[in-house]
Amino acid sequence: MQSTIQPSILHAESETPKFTIECVRCHSLYQTDELVCKNDNGLLRTSYTSRHLHMHDLPGIGKFLDWLPVTAQINTPASPVTYKSTGLARELGLTNLYIGFNGYWPEQGAHIQTCSFKELEAYPTLQLMQESGNNKIVLASAGNTGRAFAHAAVGTDIDVYIVVPESGMSKMWLPEEPTDNIHLISMADTCDYADAIQMAGKIANLPGMRSEGGVRNVARRDGMGTVMLDAAVTMGRMPDHYFQAIGSGTGGIAAWEASLRLRADGRYGETLPRLHLIQNLPFAPILNAWQHSRRDIVEEIDMPDPKKLIDRMYADVLSNRHPPYSMPGGVYDALTDTNGAMYGISTQEARQAKTLFERSEGIDIVAPAAVGVAGLVQAVQEDALNKDDFILLNITGGGVERLKEDFTLHHLQPEFKLDSQDIDIELIVR
Ligand SMILES: [Zn+2]
Repeated sequence: MQSTIQPSILHAESETPKFTIECVRCHSLYQTDELVCKNDNGLLRTSYTSRHLHMHDLPGIGKFLDWLPVTAQINTPASPVTYKSTGLARELGLTNLYIGFNGYWPEQGAHIQTCSFKELEAYPTLQLMQESGNNKIVLASAGNTGRAFAHAAVGTDIDVYIVVPESGMSKMWLPEEPTDNIHLISMADTCDYADAIQMAGKIANLPGMRSEGGVRNVARRDGMGTVMLDAAVTMGRMPDHYFQAIGSGTGGIAAWEASLRLRADGRYGETLPRLHLIQNLPFAPILNAWQHSRRDIVEEIDMPDPKKLIDRMYADVLSNRHPPYSMPGGVYDALTDTNGAMYGISTQEARQAKTLFERSEGIDIVAPAAVGVAGLVQAVQEDALNKDDFILLNITGGGVERLKEDFTLHHLQPEFKLDSQDIDIELIVR
């Protein structure tokens, strides 16, 4: 296997590469912007030269620069904020419950202006793309990812093409005026997220265009992994448990990978946090496969008639028909390595959890985050935790109502509305 390391990715002071990208299974090395192992389809993972996490004195996720796959500083106020809960902790009878808050809540030091942890992925991704010489990227989004990438791209010279199903259009707002390097393409309401993914795949094949890469993009996973890093730095140790609502499960993989790095650092404990990943019923293919101890998702069993199931979800952004579950280094491996657990949450449970969280913590949260809170409630009810365990609850989005007090939201308008895959895509990208 050819192993080439991009020479531009170097520490400023030395000739040692800051990081390499390697396959989790066969350990072949790849270029920094490669997305897949040609030998075995394994996930590629970043290996950082710096075994210890040195915090940089910067406001946003730039403080984790040592373990982000970029060279230049990242300038954004966006970062996860970890704080010890009193309100929800009291309600649930827990003594060491920490909230990883990803949203807008300036009183708590949280400045993610698109109110979603997807923004943690967007900044390192755009910078990695630029550092790798790419300035046209395309991605599919159910809404939150698209909003985050659009915001991170405002005022840059990267053209970002975002394909969103009609159901995600209401989530495509920005806290500022959009700039003309942001291109929104909407799919008709007969199409779902899977159709948007297919269309983005076609656009990615055009000359000069790069796919953002989804789960296979190391900058996205390492960006999301900062939620675990921030928690460990705040607690002075890794948590015993990590709770997050998932659609694809990429956030779960990212949390696991971050904890592997923290374990290797040596200062944050030896035991990996147990992953508690939560899906929103009735669409829960990962839950179904995991409960039957299967490494593979069987479509007919685990998600029969997916469009109908997705229609009945409380948080439909948590639907992903092709989650990275089976691949080497994917969700199955993450759950196995951490003795993880899966949960299924109904609409009613999610609604109750939203009310409980907002009343006890004093900040609004988005629907997927409420599903995560409901998973924690279920784990407590099932005695899956000890009351003094160190718990990290990833609130993947919140503070939209708080943001509206300070900002005017600008809704993005699509440049194209497509009602099928059958279109000359060269018309879209000129
Ligand atoms: Zn490989």
